[in-house]
Parts: sequence; C-alpha cells; structure tokens
Amino acid sequence: MSREQLAVQQARKSFLTGRSRPLAFRVQQLKNLLRFISERRRDISDAVKRDVGKSEHATELFETLGLEGEIKLAIDRMAEWAAPRPVEKTLVTLSDEVYIQPEPLGVVLIIGAWNYPWAVTLQPLVGAIAAGNAAVIKPSEVSSHSSQVMENLLPQYLDKDLYPVVAGGVLETQELLKQRFDHIFYTGSSTVGKLVMEAAADHLTPVTLELGGKSPCYIDNNCDLTVACRRITWGKFVNCGQTCIAPDYILCEPSIQSRVVGEIKKSIKALSTRAIEAQIYHTRQDPRCRLCKEAPETVQHITEFYTDNPKTFADYGRIINQQHYKRIMTLMEGSTVAVGGDSDESQCYIAPTVLKDVKVESKVMKEEIFGPLLPIVTVSGVDEAIQFINGREKPLVVYVFSHNSKLIKRVIAETSSGAFLANDCLVHFTVSSLPFGGVGNSGMGCYHGQHGFDQLSHMRSCLIKRLNMEGVNSMRYPPHTAKKLSW
Ligand code: NAD
Repeated sequence: MSREQLAVQQARKSFLTGRSRPLAFRVQQLKNLLRFISERRRDISDAVKRDVGKSEHATELFETLGLEGEIKLAIDRMAEWAAPRPVEKTLVTLSDEVYIQPEPLGVVLIIGAWNYPWAVTLQPLVGAIAAGNAAVIKPSEVSSHSSQVMENLLPQYLDKDLYPVVAGGVLETQELLKQRFDHIFYTGSSTVGKLVMEAAADHLTPVTLELGGKSPCYIDNNCDLTVACRRITWGKFVNCGQTCIAPDYILCEPSIQSRVVGEIKKSIKALSTRAIEAQIYHTRQDPRCRLCKEAPETVQHITEFYTDNPKTFADYGRIINQQHYKRIMTLMEGSTVAVGGDSDESQCYIAPTVLKDVKVESKVMKEEIFGPLLPIVTVSGVDEAIQFINGREKPLVVYVFSHNSKLIKRVIAETSSGAFLANDCLVHFTVSSLPFGGVGNSGMGCYHGQHGFDQLSHMRSCLIKRLNMEGVNSMRYPPHTAKKLSW
C-alpha cells in the first residue's frame, strides 16, 4: 500500500471512530494549531524566506496573521456555527422540529499552492477541523522548504492520524486523487483545477476550486491618481506579483496613461523609501522606531532595508523558480517597458515593471501573469472597460478606482467576478465575513470564517415529528378528494 493510500485509510479509520466530532476536540486541535504557529514562527518565516525570499515581517503580515485570526474566530464561533439552524415551517409541520444540522463531511483532501504556502494550505484546514472532518494535507512541492517544515512539524501539534501531511509532487498528488474523499479543496491553476475535478468525478466527490485568472483594474479619470497608484503598486508587487488576487492589468483612458505610469514609478520608490525611514529611526534610536520596541531581534532585517532598489529591498522577494522566471520574462516580449524591466536570472529577480500601450493580442494579455509585470491597456472609457472584462473569463477580482460611486455600482451590476473591490487592493481577503472564492474560470466554492465551516459541512435537513396528532395527516392519505384539497 502506498504512503498516500495509507494516510487516507488512516484518516478515514480515525474519522469513523467519531474522535473529530466533539466540539471540545475541535477547539483543542485549533488551539494546537495556534500554538504551532506561535512556537514555530521562526521555522515558518525561514522556510518562506528560502522559498520566495520574503522577509520575516512580510511573512507575518501575509501568511500567519490572517491565519491566526481565522483560527481564533473559529474557536470563538464554532459552537454557534455547529448548532442546529431552525428554519421556517409550513402549515403541516408547525408542531414539528424543523432545522438544518451542519454535519462533518468525512475526509477532506486539501491541496495547497506555493505562493502563500501557509495561508492557502492551513486556512482551509481551519474550516475542515472546525466542521469536524479529518483532512489529508498536501502542501505544494514548489515551495519545498515550507512543505518540509509542515510535514516535519505539524504532526507534533495535531492529531497525526486525523490530519496527516503528505508532502510530494505531481505523482503523489495524482495518487492521492485516486483515493476516495468526501471533499477536495484545491488551490492552484485553472489547468490543474480541471484535472482535480475530473478525478473527483470518479467518486462523485464535491470540490472547492480556488483558482486564478486575470483580474482587471479599471482606473477612472475621476480619481485621486496618487492614492490609487500607491494602492495598486502595493497590491500588484507584493510577493513579486505572485498573488492570485493581484490586479493583473490596468484599463484606463489614454489621457491618463502617462500620469498612471509616473505615479506607479513614484510609488515603487516611495514604498522602498519608507523602509529607509524605518532604518533611520532605528539607527537614531528615535522613539518612533516601532521595531526597536517590539522586536529588537529584527535589527539585521532592518539594515537590509537600507536601499531604494527593489533588488536589495528585503520585502520585495523573488520569483519562485527558474521555470516561472523564464515564463514571466517571455511574457514581456513585444511590449513597451515604461518602468523597471531589469532582471537577474541568477537570483530569479524581475524588477517591478509597468508595460504601456499594451495590445490586446500581446503575450502578456493571453495568460495570468502571476509575476511583477503590470500591463496598461487603454480603453475609451467605462463602457469599453466593461465590454473588455465581459469578453473574457470571469476573474477572481474586478478592481475599480474612482470617486464616482454611480460608476462603481454600475461596474458591480454589469460584470461578474469572484469579488469586487473599489479603491483598494487585496484587503477583502482579510474580511472573514466575506466569502473568498472565484466564479467560472476563477473557481467554485468559497471559504474564510463561517463560509469555510459551511463549505466543509453537509447541511443536513432534519424534520422530527411526533407519533401523535395523526388526525392532521388524514388529508394526505387516500382517498384523495376535492374536499381535502380545498381545506
Ligand atoms: P502549484 O504548482 O503549487 O500547484 C498547486 C497544487 O497542484 C500543488 O499542490 C501541486 O502538487 C498540484 N499539482 C500540480 N500539477 C498537478 C497535476 N498535474 N496533477 C495533480 N496535481 C497537481 O501552484 P500553481 O498551480 O502554479 O499556483 C499558481 C496558481 O494558483 C495561480 O493561477 C494562482 O492564481 C492560483 N492561486 C489561487 C489562489 C486562490 O485562493 N484562488 C491562491 C493561490 C494561488
């Protein structure tokens, strides 16, 4: 029996003991997960640094902070989420108990992606544990250091039979996909998402697919371009553009294109300069130096910030591997570089890059970029922008920057996407009350907060009648007469 088969069999056997069901057990496991993050913070950030070159603070901000928030929320609210949910009754069920009882699905397979290897792998696990399931966790082999830390250390904190970590690549994932699961939660590309769904069909297993796509960002003329471009610069270039919900490309009128380019250029420099200020506060022992107070051990990291060059800027990071580096560099071909464009293959470094006057038929507009290239496609106005968006696959996010609330509402009404954000980037990911997920080619199903709990539960319809009051039921027994129907 293969390692994958064994892990699934063991998880199923453990689930069938009923061990994962009591709320007290679920809370305990989630507390253990919290303890894992807090005690192993350094192992986690070292692994992410080796995988994508991200700084310790960036890892905390983009990986563990949200995860810890989700775990605490689930611990606080689980009893409420798991409780029977009474529903409206009909005339004939007035004296019955009628409710929805969320119940665990069974064994869930969680397949994670590499770009935020902790957040996208362990956040679904929070929902799985909270809902009382067993879960087989398959981190991405591409973020190999994170995957290894997860495989080695997580079983020291969680019930290792109920929540095994199976590290491995494509072959191991394919072996896992042959097994029978009660739900598959996949994060990754749309191409592999289709393979996952195909494999799931063999066992009629439901799937959640958290995929990607090209999220458009329309900048209206009526807009504070300085603020808009700062927020877009942050949302696009964080993690080197390797963020599923990053704005993929900009749509704007030709009249503001050069100002957009200029503001993004300024923002790239300003975001680095702010890190320099942090360094100055630190070396002057200025009381404003938050880092001195909160984390004196980060001194070495701060000195790395002393630069306005993204290549040496600790928060910028690197492209995950040579294969993705080459893919992204090829996407630049045939387009005009307006900002950045420089690269270093030996370090998998690509500068934050803006491409202007990009043609719709160019390479960079044919696939999700998933890297630090930001193409600008000019359109005649919001009508053409809406047409442009609707002429393509449904994206994970539609972004609009505008002072005009009517225009914002119009784009919501006339387009479709997993989420919609006006005047900011990425932050919807942090709102646990919003369902996070895609639609159409960007995915199906959702999670975060109660949505994750609901997604990994079966909503069981329950109706409990008593055996008395039989007279009420006489109308449904034959003979079926007109008189009974008119009652
Ligand atoms: P990846 O290469 O890490 O693949 C994701 C998972 O699929 C891995 O665990 C991998 O082992 C598995 N896999 C790869 N090829 C497979 C195959 N042939 N058969 C079975 N399993 C296979 O990650 P990726 O796909 O490069 O991730 C990037 C994509 O993920 C982007 O499109 C991005 O937008 C999307 N993404 C989406 C979200 C979201 O929440 N919607 C989050 C992160 C990433």
